[in-house]
Amino acid sequence: MRQCASLTYTSAKLCKSRHPTAIVYIETRFICGDMFGCVVVGVGMAGRVRIRDLLAPLPSSAAEIFTLKGLVSRRPLEEQQGVQQIPLEEVLSRSDIQVAFLCTENASHEDYIRRFLEAGKHVCVEYPMALSYTAAADLWDRAQQKGLVLHEEHIELLTPDFKQLKKDIAGKQLEEGSLHFTGGPLKSGFGFLSFSGIARLTWLVDLFGELSVKAASMVEEPERKHTKMTVHLLTKDQKPLTWTEERAEGLSRGKRIHLRFSTCTVTELPAGVQEPVGIFMQDMVLFGSKLQGTVPPEQLQAERSRILHCFKLAEDIRRLCQDTTA
Ligand code: NAD
Repeated sequence: MRQCASLTYTSAKLCKSRHPTAIVYIETRFICGDMFGCVVVGVGMAGRVRIRDLLAPLPSSAAEIFTLKGLVSRRPLEEQQGVQQIPLEEVLSRSDIQVAFLCTENASHEDYIRRFLEAGKHVCVEYPMALSYTAAADLWDRAQQKGLVLHEEHIELLTPDFKQLKKDIAGKQLEEGSLHFTGGPLKSGFGFLSFSGIARLTWLVDLFGELSVKAASMVEEPERKHTKMTVHLLTKDQKPLTWTEERAEGLSRGKRIHLRFSTCTVTELPAGVQEPVGIFMQDMVLFGSKLQGTVPPEQLQAERSRILHCFKLAEDIRRLCQDTTA
């Protein structure tokens, strides 16, 4: 399957309507052997993992449909893992490149997605796809209008500890809970904490369903590069959930949970079973399956609803934090 090249051509069809003389030209894209030429945009941690996985896709999986044509960066770069840099404008105009993997800092995602969708390319973007609800909703609509796949990566739902936690608490009745994330300071361009930390919101929504924001506040100590956001959420059953996102120089990356159910209390993340396939590769298989059209429409719709709901929450949280610090 991997040696097959991609090909695009235009076909003309005679439109047999009430106007028999009208000829309608339909742009039709045929992909030989379902292969998609792609580029990786942004060569940081995530970008390097994408390049690695694209060069050695999981055998006999939908990740094999990609052929890596090059990488895009705003800096002049040496060859990376044997892959050459291609100028952005060239990528946008090349018909043998149909897919972009966007791995740049968050603030640039929206603009890159717009440019690639406009050029008729499918997009896989590392979360979050944008830094506002309005932008995210608009990008989904644009992709849909153009018949293109816009996939937002959510590797946090694929980790062994999350999968195990979800299994362990299935069917249990939550009474109250908290999730406290810590990590080092964010680099510039990663956006407000509720957007850069949208993976934590995604966890909570995936575990407990739609949420609402009751209160949110943020404290900042610039001299320690310390920021701490505290968010009070409610489930549909009005059960309280507290999400704390804390970043500072020297803080190690980690998550603490405290979930009290009617029948038990969970205070530690389960270890989960390590899987042979990495989480970025699992995400790439999902993206490839979307391009192949094998993901059920209900699953796509549920994913879109969850993502937009999380963006709405992130937007509400930002507004409340800004109100309390103004
Ligand atoms: P990173 O800082 O390692 O990489 C970002 C890339 O953008 C780097 O190549 C950086 O040099 C480049 N860049 C940023 N600003 C630039 C500028 N002004 N000019 C030129 N180049 C610039 O970050 P990352 O961890 O790879 O994260 C990238 C994206 O992936 C983010 O959206 C993040 O949320 C997402 N993500 C990362 C991980 C992870 O494990 N690293 C996991 C999930 C999602």
